Amino acid sequence: MSQFPGTLRVDDLDVTVEISPRRESVRLTVERDASVTATVPPLVGPEELARIVRSRRRWLYAKLAEHATLGPARPPHAYLSGEGFLYLGRSHRLLLVDDAPVAVRLLRGRLELRRDCLDDPAGHIVRWYRQVGEPWLLKRVAPWAEVLGVTVAGLRVLPLGYRWGSCSLSGHVNIHWAAMQLPPDLIDYVLVHELAHLRRPDHSPEFWRIVERALPGHRENRERLRRLGPGLWLP
Ligand SMILES: [Zn+2]
Repeated sequence: MSQFPGTLRVDDLDVTVEISPRRESVRLTVERDASVTATVPPLVGPEELARIVRSRRRWLYAKLAEHATLGPARPPHAYLSGEGFLYLGRSHRLLLVDDAPVAVRLLRGRLELRRDCLDDPAGHIVRWYRQVGEPWLLKRVAPWAEVLGVTVAGLRVLPLGYRWGSCSLSGHVNIHWAAMQLPPDLIDYVLVHELAHLRRPDHSPEFWRIVERALPGHRENRERLRRLGPGLWLP
């Protein structure tokens, strides 16, 4: 109950709760960064709100898909030599090779995929993004944690559905592997956004002030993410 108002977790949805004495019914809004806000009359408790959120789940998911920075329409890959794959904002041509010590690697600007991995090319390439993403992000996150005055207890790179990142109050940060396709300065924004949540779990004006102080230009960054997201590869 202590989290109410604040953030209420309903299944896989984090709902930011705002109490409004003027409202007579619950209003759910999907924000442009794919977060969900509930404006709630004072007498509605967490259980009732959770029930309402569940009853509107179909609508919420449709809205989330619409707003998602990682939307559903994206270019497919046929895993042929010459196709471009993004890493840190740069496109690298795929090169199918017969001999290599690993399934996937970035070598001399080419993304090499070993031919005997063509049974599950997407799986191997996603694993590669996760493998290279983790050490890269761990190095990258340290100075931002210092700027924001927070402690990062752990960082993982994994599929996160429609979200770029998530975090827990214990200081664990998760970043979507697909974010490794973004230019480094936008990855910084994704990191700063999650680290700022370690200080403020919501999207209140104070939250955005924390983000802006650490990394100025959050409006432009959100807009760029929204534009770039649908063009990223997400098998
Ligand atoms: Zn957020």
